[in-house]
Amino acid sequence: MNDMAPESIEKQIADGFRWLRFAPAIERAYLTEYAQHRIKRAPIWALVGTFIYDLVFFGDATMVPDQLDRLVLMRFAIFTPFAILATVLVMKWRSARNYDLLSLAVVLLGGSLPMLIAVHSTSPHLFIYQTGNVATFLFLVIGLRPRFPAVIAGLFLLCVIHLTICAQIPSFDSVSFQGMVTFYITISIFLALGAYFQEHSDRMNFLNRVRAMTLHAQLEMQSERDELTGLLNRRSLARVERELWQAERSRSVYAIMLDIDRFKLFNDVHGHIDGDDCIRGVAGTIASTVRPDSRVFRFGGEEILVLLPDAGFDEACQMAEQIRQAIEGLAIEHRGLVPPGVVTASLGVAGGDTGDQTLQDLLRRADQALYDAKKLGRNRVSVGSLSLQRMS
Ligand code: GH3
Ligand code: MG
Ligand code: MG
Repeated sequence: MNDMAPESIEKQIADGFRWLRFAPAIERAYLTEYAQHRIKRAPIWALVGTFIYDLVFFGDATMVPDQLDRLVLMRFAIFTPFAILATVLVMKWRSARNYDLLSLAVVLLGGSLPMLIAVHSTSPHLFIYQTGNVATFLFLVIGLRPRFPAVIAGLFLLCVIHLTICAQIPSFDSVSFQGMVTFYITISIFLALGAYFQEHSDRMNFLNRVRAMTLHAQLEMQSERDELTGLLNRRSLARVERELWQAERSRSVYAIMLDIDRFKLFNDVHGHIDGDDCIRGVAGTIASTVRPDSRVFRFGGEEILVLLPDAGFDEACQMAEQIRQAIEGLAIEHRGLVPPGVVTASLGVAGGDTGDQTLQDLLRRADQALYDAKKLGRNRVSVGSLSLQRMS
């Protein structure tokens, strides 16, 4: 969900969705959530629904006693296993379409089977017996709540099947039959309209939730990023510390602390605008040089910190040297130097296990190593008291 752009959500809200359909990417996310939500509740509806359905046995016994054998067989041997099997299958093959098909199959079978048997009965109570089918309409729209097209198809087919069967029952005179037609069509219209508005507000709620989530994610990202370079900012260091230091197992973390050489001079000679460009260029080079799981921070003005989780000593030193060479390789002219040269940086490396040192200890040691690199002549990598010869 988070990968949806807030603008596309805003556009969807502005455009509306009177046909209960979103733009493809949003629709896919909605259907995934819809399927998860409905299928999670499917076993509850299957249990309650089949239990009540089987309890109607008592209604069969009093209202349609001459067809009781067939009704019992239908309820217990056909419908109940079918409903359970269909629920198990939809839980296995989870999708919005399968859920809607399950809903339709269950109500159409559950609504038509008793009436198909009752049509052969000579009971005088058939009129009251058939009113029980209202429960099927309600179960579809209020209980199972499939998507609107399935609701329309279900209500339409339930009406057609139910009324066609009732038209075959000789004891229903034309006035009673017309009354039934009016009744079922009226409740179907009300239920359909209600289902439309319900799905519309479900969808609106979904959009609002996604909007809130994407905005939150965007804000969180913005608040963790440095504006000039796009690197992580100092504020995000606390989160990264939690991630690396509060993990269950102790892990090796190396820190590379980097500071651009003679940068005050660079600003004085080239101006702050070029100075900003220089910091941006150096930051981009570092970000594209390090491993994807490294965390790169703009630690201060022209100081950059790289944290390398699960790295070894050699790897950290090689990485620092690679960064140093890459910055020098940018060949950003530095006319403040005598003689004029290119922008370079000094780097300090320190590392160890998270179980043995705090982040503050690690940063202090990397900073000390950086200080050593500066003292030893700049444009070099230093590890504690050990300085690696620059290779250029
Ligand atoms: P050293 O080699 O010892 O690091 O010398 P230096 O001149 O680089 O000294 P220092 O690291 O203390 O200088 C930092 C300078 O970076 C000071 C400040 O003018 C400049 N600076 C800090 N942030 C920014 C920024 O966002 N943009 C620009 N253009 N300059 C910045
Ligand atoms: Mg500095
Ligand atoms: Mg500096």
